[in-house]
Amino acid sequence: MAEEPKVGVYVCHCGVNIASVVNVKAVVEHASTLPNVVVAKDYPFMCSDPGQNMIIEDIKTKGLNRVVVASCSPRMHEPTFRKALERAGLNPYLLEMANIREHCSWVHEKQPQEATEKAKDLVEAAVAKARMLKPIETVRMPAVKRALVIGGGVAGIRAALDIANSGFEVYLVEKRPSIGGNMARLDKTFPTLDCSQCILTPMMVEAAQHPNIKLLTYSEVQSIDGSVGNFTVKILKKPRYVNEDLCTGCGICEQKCPYTVPSEFNLGLGKRKVIYFEFPQAVPLKPVLDRDNCVYFKKGTCRACEKFCPAKAIDYTQQPKEITINVGAIILATGYGLYDVKTKMPEYRYGLSKNVITGLELERLTSATGPTKGAILRPGDKKEPKNVAIILCVGSRDEKHLDYCCRFGCVAGIKHAYYIVSHIPDAKVTICYTDIRAFGKGYEDFYARIRALDNVQFIRGRPMEIFEDSNGSLYFDVFDQNTNRLIRLNPDLVVLETGVVPDPSFEQIATVLKCSRGPDGFALELHPKLRPTETSVDGVFIAGVVQGPKDIPDTVAQAGAAAASAIALLARGEVESVPNVASVNQDLCSGCGVCEPICPYTAIVLEARNGGRVAKVEATKCKGCGACAAACPSGAMTQLGFEDKQLIPQIEVLARGR
Ligand SMILES: Cc1cc2nc3c(=O)[nH]c(=O)nc-3n(C[C@H](O)[C@H](O)[C@H](O)COP(=O)(O)OP(=O)(O)OC[C@H]3O[C@@H](n4cnc5c(N)ncnc54)[C@H](O)[C@@H]3O)c2cc1C
Ligand code: SF4
Ligand code: SF4
Repeated sequence: MAEEPKVGVYVCHCGVNIASVVNVKAVVEHASTLPNVVVAKDYPFMCSDPGQNMIIEDIKTKGLNRVVVASCSPRMHEPTFRKALERAGLNPYLLEMANIREHCSWVHEKQPQEATEKAKDLVEAAVAKARMLKPIETVRMPAVKRALVIGGGVAGIRAALDIANSGFEVYLVEKRPSIGGNMARLDKTFPTLDCSQCILTPMMVEAAQHPNIKLLTYSEVQSIDGSVGNFTVKILKKPRYVNEDLCTGCGICEQKCPYTVPSEFNLGLGKRKVIYFEFPQAVPLKPVLDRDNCVYFKKGTCRACEKFCPAKAIDYTQQPKEITINVGAIILATGYGLYDVKTKMPEYRYGLSKNVITGLELERLTSATGPTKGAILRPGDKKEPKNVAIILCVGSRDEKHLDYCCRFGCVAGIKHAYYIVSHIPDAKVTICYTDIRAFGKGYEDFYARIRALDNVQFIRGRPMEIFEDSNGSLYFDVFDQNTNRLIRLNPDLVVLETGVVPDPSFEQIATVLKCSRGPDGFALELHPKLRPTETSVDGVFIAGVVQGPKDIPDTVAQAGAAAASAIALLARGEVESVPNVASVNQDLCSGCGVCEPICPYTAIVLEARNGGRVAKVEATKCKGCGACAAACPSGAMTQLGFEDKQLIPQIEVLARGR
């Protein structure tokens, strides 16, 4: 026979958050009159140690077998109180919470009387449900002690190294021929102006040589199945047409290849060969043959690379290779791309005038390994610019385009002013800004240093449109808000510090993983303050700009935090299923299959039974959303902790009126 419910009710004051509006003593008094309530108490901070100990003590001494806590949102403290029940030896799912803060005192601040009555109802409803609660057991599954990092920018490399250094194996998948990401394109990094490649290359090499890291470059994730602790990932390794085991990276193929095309790494500003290394410090240092532009693949002639390769590494027959891996945790580090100002903001003439470039293009022009070997030359006529305009917030903080701040554009623009005046001392730079956001460590000093230069002027205003006269000279007007003057500028080079967007491939990865994205398309963290590296999918973490624009120090810090979360999961070696999962009574199931396509997590399969079919729930995939239970026409599907016989008494209390 089922045990008689013995309910304890605990009403929290939440300091004055609840108690200044709701009469907690009256709520306690009401609760003590409810059926099966053995004890009802209030306390200033129920989540504090003494508050929890009060509950534990009562469970032990008064034989409570159900607990109701009336306090804040269960999102805040449900885990706290569940742990308290567990410490007292009670199943943690014999707890029900009544939210009398967010749902009551905070929204009825001006109506204390009514708020108190509502709090009584919320507590009574919670008691009605608590009486019907059943213990729920969690399922524990072994976790694969291996991780996957998607994206080999500085975030992905740092996360992979941290995981590998903790003794776990990690796959690092990068879609481009080399790891390094956008940081590899930068010449120097603000505010210290240290050479970007000098600090990045050692990390890239360390990742490639680490015994626990399996580097899969020129590779893309095709599909991800499974759930936390046991993901099955299919990866497509694209053919380089070079046998990586034989290739010594000597570069003779690149030298001998007679054909050139625009270089993607240099953002179209320079050329590369058809068989090429992405950049001189590429890791791995293996070339890629660009099949679409290769004369051998197009016409069957040439084969110069094959003829000259001393290692006999060229392999025109190479095919894409599908690799399947099993991992327990995934870190997304797919980074960013630039906002498409060419099509979205034609008024700035990017793509129309060769002398309007982006900040990232200026990085390539300034870099010693760039198309001009470090000389800042106008793409239009290859002359040194003497009058440069740098426009900040292009596309950013603009409700017609991207309403968010890119967080590094201002300081990147200031760095770019430094690049120009240090390379061309007689050049003059004008920075058009909205307001300068230089919030990082050492950024304000750097800003002050550049602002003090005689040949760098700052204008507070955004130009509306850039014009080009018939001689190809650029000009625009900008209203300086500091002096209330309209100023005309005639720059011979314009640098646009453009907004940033998530890498376009992130949308597909997020869809495959069912990982939430924010309205801006970046990955949505589980909690913006308290769980910034976790996603809505257990076992999937985020690092770097995939979560939102950030500079390198913040990217690296977040990568370390994401790696730590993944390491904690792998070190535990097992995962617990979500307890409030769906559960099928197969005797009631008609096999209609309505639930299967409704489940957003593909957690339901239909299996053969007695010549028919019945639904089965894969507990580790189920997230307890309840969609299947609501849709099941036979009443066979229920969600543990939210069964009809538990919810209906609760609703009845709230629906009866007073
Ligand atoms: C002009 C400019 C100047 C800057 N200067 C500075 C500076 O001086 N100092 C500073 O602190 N910050 C600077 N930044 C910011 C800096 O670039 C970023 O903070 C940093 O690059 C973020 O690293 P990430 O790894 O998150 O992303 P990324 O560098 O974008 O790397 C992401 C990687 O993931 C790969 N990838 C994407 N999708 C997939 C996929 N589906 N599968 C596999 N791989 C994938 C990409 O190819 C890329 O290699 C600057 C930015 C710009 C635009
Ligand atoms: S075969 Fe193709 S890649 Fe090789 S050298 Fe000729 S064009 Fe270049
Ligand atoms: S010539 Fe051969 S060994 Fe040298 S880089 Fe090219 S493919 Fe590799």
